[in-house]
Amino acid sequence: MKFFSTRNRNNIVDYKRAIFEGLAPDGGLYLPLGELKIEGLIETFVREAGKKRATELYREIVQGISRALLTPEIEPEKVERIGSLSVGFAPVLRRLNDRIALLELFHGPTCAFKDFGASFLASSMEVLLEDDNRRAVILVATSGDTGSAVARAFYGKKNIDVVILYPSGRVSYLQEKQLTTLGENITALEVRGAFDDCQRLVKEAFMDRELSRKVNLTSANSINLGRLLPQSYYYVFGYVEAVSSSDEDIVFCVPSGNFGNLTAGVLAWKWGLGTRRFIAATNVNDVVPEYLASGVFAPRPSVKTLSNAMDVGNPSNFERLRVIFDDNVDKMREMLYGESVSDEETIDGIREVYERFGILIDPHTAVGYIATKRYLERMRSDGSSSSPEGVIILATAHPGKFSDTVKRATGVEPELPDTLREVLGREKRSVVIGPDISELRAFLLKHF
Ligand SMILES: *Cc1c(COP(=O)(O)O)cnc(C)c1O
Repeated sequence: MKFFSTRNRNNIVDYKRAIFEGLAPDGGLYLPLGELKIEGLIETFVREAGKKRATELYREIVQGISRALLTPEIEPEKVERIGSLSVGFAPVLRRLNDRIALLELFHGPTCAFKDFGASFLASSMEVLLEDDNRRAVILVATSGDTGSAVARAFYGKKNIDVVILYPSGRVSYLQEKQLTTLGENITALEVRGAFDDCQRLVKEAFMDRELSRKVNLTSANSINLGRLLPQSYYYVFGYVEAVSSSDEDIVFCVPSGNFGNLTAGVLAWKWGLGTRRFIAATNVNDVVPEYLASGVFAPRPSVKTLSNAMDVGNPSNFERLRVIFDDNVDKMREMLYGESVSDEETIDGIREVYERFGILIDPHTAVGYIATKRYLERMRSDGSSSSPEGVIILATAHPGKFSDTVKRATGVEPELPDTLREVLGREKRSVVIGPDISELRAFLLKHF
């Protein structure tokens, strides 16, 4: 499989180049070129699902689709190693009732779905750097959560160093512990400034040709193809687990911000996953549901909400969706159904799921739950659904990461997962720098 830029179909690269570039030189995002057809593979998974443990099934899905995507351009032996290095944890399908299930994506090291993409990208880079005899330095700016997923994923990887810039005093206590206590190949730079300063410094470092060549700078943003592709694997897993025990049509509900997660699901559908539709669930930052309603895409500044990882006013992956659906809103409407959910409704959703099913969910998942309820009501009242539909809601974060909101909604304080509690006892190590490119430059040249 080769990959092309959303801004120029003639800009075609291989997987290695795409993941080390991140953004295409023309400013576009990479997408798979040409058809991948894996219906046969999915049928095999469905037939065998009942006989296998879920973790084993997931492992085989990762290996099977990676092979289809990445060989023969990358040797099969390497593809297999990338797959096995990346699957230290697996998704879990949990039924709420006979219509709705949660696909829990928070059993990785930082307890949110971004662990899946970060882990596959880190394994890809580690394996694909083996033949080059030089190290790469990943430079990332973070306002909290993305940086910790990247740090954990790259921790201990050969041939790679990670430098994370975060704004001093502006991330939570837990986030700071996650960023600063790993050590080894992970360095935390505490910037005396705001998140915007961190982002500007990273941008300036990449624009400094000499610096970026001397220390072999690389990015690992959420738009990286190596983070996007593996997110489609858990859609296949959820689908296979669900259809092997029922004959409903499957709809996925995806709590969305930057729309990377949803784009990965749409890719799986293009490859032959028999899903009927996707619900694009957002908080009040709802430019995509608005586009689906009006046909006009109007980005605007983001608004702060309880589901803060989805506070995005100009979702970067919309560019990918547009290309996949030939820039045709009617085609997009056939597959995507938009719903926007307020903070008040989010709280109601957390409470309702706790009262009806005895399960605590985080605010992002609650946005998905409310959107799902509305979707099912709409389908029932329209009579527009000819056969029964089951909805799989992607549960994107562990409720323990949002304990204040969960407690406010239910009166119950969720437990912090062990992997997060463990870092609280560790010692913080960071290097403080001013918000100035000369300080960042000096640091990088001295250490790498
Ligand atoms: C990043 C994130 C999202 C949004 O995912 P996108 O791919 O940006 O749409 C949803 N929930 C949680 C918990 C996240 O961290």
